[in-house]
Amino acid sequence: MIVTMSHAEALAALSALLGDAHVDRSHATLGAANRATFATSSRALAVLRPGTHDELCALLRIASAHALPVYPISAGKNWGLGSRVPPRDAALVDLSRLSRIRDFDAELGHVTLEPGVSFQQLYDFLRTERAEWFVNTTGASPLASVVGNALERGDGTGPYGDRVHHVCNLRVALASGETLRTGFGRFGDSELAKLHRFGVGPALDGLFSQSNFGIVSELTLWLAPLPKSLSVVRCSVVEAARLAPLTDALRRLRLDGTLRSVAGIWNDYRVLSTRRQYPWELTQGRTPLARTQLEQLASEWGGARWFSTAALYAASAAQGAAHRAHVESVLAPLVDHLELTHRDGDALSGAELYTEPDPAFRFLQGIPHQGSLASTYFRKRTPPPAELDPDRDGCGVLWCCPTLPFRGRDLAAAADLAEQLLLEHGFEPLLAAVAQTERTLYFVPLIVYDRDVPGEDARALAAHDALLSACEVRGWLPYRLGIQSMSMLPPALDDTERVLARLKATLDPARVIAPGRYER
Ligand SMILES: Cc1cc2nc3c(=O)[nH]c(=O)nc-3n(C[C@H](O)[C@H](O)[C@H](O)COP(=O)(O)OP(=O)(O)OC[C@H]3O[C@@H](n4cnc5c(N)ncnc54)[C@H](O)[C@@H]3O)c2cc1C
Repeated sequence: MIVTMSHAEALAALSALLGDAHVDRSHATLGAANRATFATSSRALAVLRPGTHDELCALLRIASAHALPVYPISAGKNWGLGSRVPPRDAALVDLSRLSRIRDFDAELGHVTLEPGVSFQQLYDFLRTERAEWFVNTTGASPLASVVGNALERGDGTGPYGDRVHHVCNLRVALASGETLRTGFGRFGDSELAKLHRFGVGPALDGLFSQSNFGIVSELTLWLAPLPKSLSVVRCSVVEAARLAPLTDALRRLRLDGTLRSVAGIWNDYRVLSTRRQYPWELTQGRTPLARTQLEQLASEWGGARWFSTAALYAASAAQGAAHRAHVESVLAPLVDHLELTHRDGDALSGAELYTEPDPAFRFLQGIPHQGSLASTYFRKRTPPPAELDPDRDGCGVLWCCPTLPFRGRDLAAAADLAEQLLLEHGFEPLLAAVAQTERTLYFVPLIVYDRDVPGEDARALAAHDALLSACEVRGWLPYRLGIQSMSMLPPALDDTERVLARLKATLDPARVIAPGRYER
């Protein structure tokens, strides 16, 4: 981006506001900020680090006055969807200095926190408080932001996995420098603001996730109670034809309340990528890994084609046992392998939890992990380093995020489509689906490659776009977009786009907040 006179003036005013140390234009900072897990062309002009909500409001007033575009990041770990790179050239508003946990209610189970709070920080806090509550984790990174994940409508494991449905009381800085609190929050210190989602009258919460109408500097997150009995359900099927009946059974278990938490489904390619790096010797250095070659490795994971893991959270050992019996009766006839393991009471808390050998029991109770992050190094020729950083290390990662009706036939058809299309484009179909709600599945094909191989960046983006388009044609619209694909949505057939443009013109007339974010 060319720094115009007005932008230079804005940066000078911002230095006066934040201090020179918090207006960072160093080569090293911008070089790192402009590196994502796929090829990008838009650029960060500077990194601005406000330390308070009031500074954020003042920053936005200056940006509006000088037409300086700004793009908020909470932790900037939006890997596979753009990392820290803005959709269009902008100064980054890095909210990592706003990292306070402002309030915790041990009786009603909620925390109020700022965007810089990471999953690890929140977990450590709850552990120190000996809380009987937990926040679900993601597969991304312990250092990702809880607020950033919620505002991007990310997902986690366990109950309340559909995170944005469990937040309220957003404090928003608008482009004008005004402050808005959602729900009952507008009435000041009302305790209800943290307990009740919409308050009274028009509910504005929805305007501030996956949008560019404001920057959120605080919100309240509801916590899930730690279970008194936790069961992990693992199953697998050998024949691809058994995927659909298994999926339909998981839907029924979700709908009847037995499964109160997110269930995951993975294919064999995805399992391989989480266990080891690419089998270069087997393929004699060629990519992609053909299904026939994959099957030569199948003994490593018992030969199954599809796998599912779900969890049963219960309030007592007896309730857990009843749920397990029901799940067993439903799933046993449909799968080739079914394993139910459980822990009750004391085994779920304190020291025993931390020495628990099965990682599933740890992360299902909110202990952050970076278990699947190493899989972003799948196609690299050297092993993952101790400190994982896919942006820095040239790991190619692209998520495609279609939404499916929670029906076996839809998942089976989407999986066939993705497997064929990704292999044709030269990439392994690393497929997963997340049973996020009772009626929809998040289908999350992952493209992993080595950015250091010439031509791979372009091939991976072509594969992503072809898959996203093919899904859209079939009605499987994305629930989330990478910064490079915001314009890939089909056009609205009603007046939505015009109404959104009017809202933007009202809330942000200079169009400074996150231009291009969730806009066609
Ligand atoms: C191996 C792997 C596994 C992953 N697993 C998961 C998973 O299980 N679930 C999941 O959801 N994602 C997953 N991801 C994707 C991603 O890494 C996470 O969603 C991560 O939480 C996003 O980064 P962040 O929380 O730091 O948010 P940020 O990168 O800070 O922000 C995300 C987006 O929200 C906007 N935003 C951030 N803060 C604000 C604010 N305060 N106000 C307004 N807008 C804001 C930003 O502009 C940005 O576009 C995974 C990625 C990888 C590579």
